[in-house]
Amino acid sequence: MQGELDVVVATTAFGMGVDKAEIRFVLHYDHPASLEAYAQEAGRAGRDGNEAYAILLSHSQTQSTERFIARQGIPDTRVLRAYQHALLATDDEGSSSVRLADGMVLCDPDALANLAHIEPTQARVLLFSFEEAGLVQRGPDCTLEATMLLNQPVSTVLATIVDDEERTRAASLFDSLGAAQDMQVSYRAAQVYEQTGIDPRTIDALLVRLAERDLLLYRAYHRGITLTLSEHLAQQGELEAIEQRFANRYARFEERLNTMLDYIKLRPGNHHCRSAALINYLTGRDDAPLCGKCDLCSPTSQHLPWDPGIRLYGEPLAVDLRLSILGAVRDHNGIFAPRTIEKMLLGIPQTNYQGKVFLLSASARASDHFGELDGTGAKPERVQRTIAALTEGGFLQLNERTLPSNGTKYTAIALTQRGRDALAGGVELPEYREIEVKL
Ligand SMILES: [Zn+2]
Repeated sequence: MQGELDVVVATTAFGMGVDKAEIRFVLHYDHPASLEAYAQEAGRAGRDGNEAYAILLSHSQTQSTERFIARQGIPDTRVLRAYQHALLATDDEGSSSVRLADGMVLCDPDALANLAHIEPTQARVLLFSFEEAGLVQRGPDCTLEATMLLNQPVSTVLATIVDDEERTRAASLFDSLGAAQDMQVSYRAAQVYEQTGIDPRTIDALLVRLAERDLLLYRAYHRGITLTLSEHLAQQGELEAIEQRFANRYARFEERLNTMLDYIKLRPGNHHCRSAALINYLTGRDDAPLCGKCDLCSPTSQHLPWDPGIRLYGEPLAVDLRLSILGAVRDHNGIFAPRTIEKMLLGIPQTNYQGKVFLLSASARASDHFGELDGTGAKPERVQRTIAALTEGGFLQLNERTLPSNGTKYTAIALTQRGRDALAGGVELPEYREIEVKL
């Protein structure tokens, strides 16, 4: 901040709150997942109004990493159901949770995660999504476990409490903990609540106040959450609504990512301009003036401190789309619809059908073929056309199939003997150029 450093290398998390006006260069080593993020990050350059540059390096593989990370956040039905059961089990006899007088449940979020066999971080996301769906309502957090040590005899500490009700509560608490001067005792909310009926939500405030006056030491080391469970929590349809919400969120992510990619792919000509494209996108208008300085609209580019025409390519990697498709169908023979095979190979965890977003099944998302074409530059239309050509050529066939769970009919794709032979290398495949992949 003192201006002593020439260059700072940082992740995007850096500098969210740093407002430094005289930044001359923002160099992105990789593109962010949205144009909004890019505008914000690149917008750190030149806040003092003087000339500044933003350079964006991009790599075709980055989008697969971003999709991968975004997919991690999508729970499948099994996980949602497991978490639902864990929440419902807080009411069970023998659970570690405590049902308080007003119907709220005090529970340990990590124990909930354990019970559902999921990571605590994922459990936090799930809890939020259940909250969002109105299936649980969160109350104040409070301490589940702590240690306490009185610096004074019990009677001295109690004598300092003016409020009668509070003094009675403290006396009852100390009694149940077996507290005595200079002796460390453990506080466990569930136990104390059972023995004394003292609402655990009142204990933190009480003990913190006493600790502030040096009457005791209070160290809370395990926080719990309080929840009100909705009567709808047990309903299956509610989980589907949550899944749909995750699917919609991913759809928005995908849309934003594509806008970022389109921006990267802009080439000179047709009145293209980086600055105008960004401003138009962010304002929703289409009349931003050309900047005259960017790699797209500068008449000469000669004042730029770098060569905007530079392109770095790795070795081309050849992917035979036809074999990828046949291999994926072989491993999920007669199960998936053609569009599921397509999305699976492209690493897109959901599909749009008749205007609705459907999450790919857990088995499609878990497949070894998931994302096989990620980063290869393969386009959905290309995959669709190849599937059609393979079907036409008798390598694949379409069969009517009925979903065992709900009787829905759909068209599934299966491998024919000819397709098997082709995979084994015994039969010529329909003529289709291999995709050239730029790394
Ligand atoms: Zn421009």
